[in-house]
Amino acid sequence: MVMNRKRREYARHSAKVTRGPRWKALRLQALDRDGWQCVQCGTRKGLEVDHIEPVRDRPDLAFELTNLQCLCGRCHARKTRIEVGHKPLPPERARWRDLLREMQRNPNESEEMQCWTL
Ligand SMILES: [Zn+2]
Repeated sequence: MVMNRKRREYARHSAKVTRGPRWKALRLQALDRDGWQCVQCGTRKGLEVDHIEPVRDRPDLAFELTNLQCLCGRCHARKTRIEVGHKPLPPERARWRDLLREMQRNPNESEEMQCWTL
């Protein structure tokens, strides 16, 4: 995937923060606080610690625990995409995607799903 200029800019700003030893400790605190799961979808895989207010906009909050949240790679990528001005998925596509994800999580409920579509 080609990163556009704006996105690279964001990455550069947060890299200044996330390279330091101070970040390592803070990152663990954030993971602990959020129970080592993604605050959006609840997965425990591929966790990343995200700045709620991007470092680029609020460098003063870069080491503020309250400005951090645990996100999985997927939710994080979606948030970054919105921040750099890409459109989020249109609502009907997002709903469909959530539905599919829900089905994968609860395979026993697929019967119920069929009733809906009839
Ligand atoms: Zn997630």
